[in-house]
Amino acid sequence: MQPLGEFDLIARFFKRPTPHAVVGVGDDCAVLQPRPGTQWAISTDMLVAGRHFFPDTDPGQLGHKALAVNLSDLAACGAQPVAFTLALALPEAREAWLAPFAQGLLALADLHGCELVGGDTTQGPLNICITVFGEVPVINGRTLALLRSGAQAGDDLYVSGTLGDARLALEVLQGQLSVPPAVLKAARTRLQAPTPRVALGLALRGVATAAIDVSDGLLGDLGHVLQQSGVGAVVHTDVVLQRLASWRALVPWLSEPDTPLSKARLLGWTLAGGDDYELLFTAAPAQRAQVAQAALRAQTPVTRIGQIEAERGLRLLDEHGQPLPNTFASFDHFA
Ligand code: ADP
Ligand code: MG
Repeated sequence: MQPLGEFDLIARFFKRPTPHAVVGVGDDCAVLQPRPGTQWAISTDMLVAGRHFFPDTDPGQLGHKALAVNLSDLAACGAQPVAFTLALALPEAREAWLAPFAQGLLALADLHGCELVGGDTTQGPLNICITVFGEVPVINGRTLALLRSGAQAGDDLYVSGTLGDARLALEVLQGQLSVPPAVLKAARTRLQAPTPRVALGLALRGVATAAIDVSDGLLGDLGHVLQQSGVGAVVHTDVVLQRLASWRALVPWLSEPDTPLSKARLLGWTLAGGDDYELLFTAAPAQRAQVAQAALRAQTPVTRIGQIEAERGLRLLDEHGQPLPNTFASFDHFA
């Protein structure tokens, strides 16, 4: 087979009709027109082989995940996905890798009506960098984007879906423990092909006061909201464990409540596991019915796990309402 050249590769796998872009792939710049009354929410995320994923990861899932982690940022801002660019460094241009990669990537893009409008392609160690463009309404000069800075004392604190699944899969894949095959399969999908909570983010516009996506771990990401909002919070760890660590019941030794190791690990994976891609958000107690409506509309369960308080700092409570020391470090590339 003829080796693929740079431009053949782009034309073959990444150049598609882009009906919503003024100019898509093929010129020096993509040109996008924001609709009247909207602003761009823009986010970039990079996936590096050996750092964010195993180099032999299924390329289809990798394509999905590279876009999913970016769409998760748009979801956290309550932005409607519109377009994205793809910067790709590849060790070699192999069709057997590129075809499934493009398929996984573009299937998720199509699901969200998000068009690939440009990018860059170069030879080098496998590295995938995506920039997404999403639309948020602006009303009377005020953005409807959900921000980290909007949490108010007295607000309820919520998390979508479940936490710790991806971490469980990672521990198993690294040979730290074994779990029943069906449990691994579900957890592995969460790790390798997460579902961005785009519909929930959109439904929470005008309802949530602040939001962030949980990528580095619940407590660490909550810390960003607290810091940027200038508030504190109390978190009920028993609720988090019972409602968000749904996988725990399926792993026999983890569900034994009294072994200190199982409890510490369980808490660690749930509160600081990383790669969850759920939404953490705050809303006034008066909005509880609207939050429930939003969850229903987005078909995404949400759980109330605590409260925002005026006193700064993060307070964890155990099942007896007693303070629990926060020893749960979130992921930090340079720590
Ligand atoms: P330039 O050298 O002017 O930056 P390139 O030759 O790198 O342009 O790219 C040619 C066209 O292909 C541009 O429109 C660019 O946005 C697009 N492109 C390059 N790589 C990708 C990719 N991986 N996915 C989508 N579009 C790409
Ligand atoms: Mg270029």
